[in-house]
Amino acid sequence: RAKAEGRNGWQFFAATMEARAREIMQIEADLRQALLRRELVLHYQPQIELRSGRVVGVEALLRWRRNGKLTGPGPFLAVAEETGLIGPINEWVLAEACRQAAAWAEDWKAAGVAPLRMGVNLSPVQFRRQDVPALVLRVLGETGLDPALLDLELTEGILMDQGAEMAARLQSLRARGICISVDDFGTGYSSLSYVKNFPVDRLKIDQSFVRGMTSDANDAAIVRTIIELAHVLRLQVVAEGVETEAQLEALRAEGCDEVQGFFFSEAVPPDTIAELLRQDPIGPRLAAGAALRS
Ligand code: C2E
Ligand code: MG
Ligand code: MG
Ligand code: MG
Repeated sequence: RAKAEGRNGWQFFAATMEARAREIMQIEADLRQALLRRELVLHYQPQIELRSGRVVGVEALLRWRRNGKLTGPGPFLAVAEETGLIGPINEWVLAEACRQAAAWAEDWKAAGVAPLRMGVNLSPVQFRRQDVPALVLRVLGETGLDPALLDLELTEGILMDQGAEMAARLQSLRARGICISVDDFGTGYSSLSYVKNFPVDRLKIDQSFVRGMTSDANDAAIVRTIIELAHVLRLQVVAEGVETEAQLEALRAEGCDEVQGFFFSEAVPPDTIAELLRQDPIGPRLAAGAALRS
């Protein structure tokens, strides 16, 4: 009996593996087409400076318009990383985000509006496969974007597994004015020494801590500690995943510099961001609770 079960178990496992492999191959084939057919799009989530209440930047977030439906990156980024498609996808993301940021800066210059900083996510896999600093410099050259408007979001993993050589190359990007943010801060193997040794400008507090900060004393303590750490090290600190007014007020009380989250707006298409700027020529404000609609 045990033997038969074992065999069935194996057959089940093999069938599951095969189904998963088929699914991955299908997603890969579809993704290849998506790149060619321009079905990948970027949406932008506003980042609000708490001191002024103004939108000072956006984060580019990848979406796939697949059979008329918009999909977030969760299900397909993993496949892209497994298959190597992540290279061309990330190149496209970087080029498109920089092109958009440069176009906006140009549009609003005449109106005297301060240009928005553009946040772009980079994956650890990308750093292993590509010369990312060279790519960034090439794209900046091609798009003419002011380097000071580009904010590269790296995760702790990239900083951990790349070592001293990467630190030097990140430093060379920073020397040109590019901003480096640590994304999902607090969820990786946060080591204090790397925040000290790596040339970064901003810490983004992971949304899991923000979510818990008004109900869980430990999360509240972690958020407070990250904000203090950032300021002692003269880094900016951004809270992500802000969904409620209570979280917003708690972050303000702790002296957090910037926030982003559904309480203000989800990631929206570029036209919605442009509209936001048109409405406020001095510089866009996003009232708390006045979430943008896409
Ligand atoms: P991330 O960089 O930490 O981005 C934040 C994620 O949280 C986004 O999910 C965003 O839509 C979501 N979010 C923002 N505010 C809230 C909120 O108030 N509540 C909740 N529950 N969620 C919120 P998204 O767009 O699904 O992206 C997931 C992850 O995929 C990103 O995490 C990032 O690591 C990665 N990603 C997204 N776009 C790109 C890209 O263009 N290139 C690369 N390499 N990775 C990307
Ligand atoms: Mg991010
Ligand atoms: Mg994050
Ligand atoms: Mg994340």
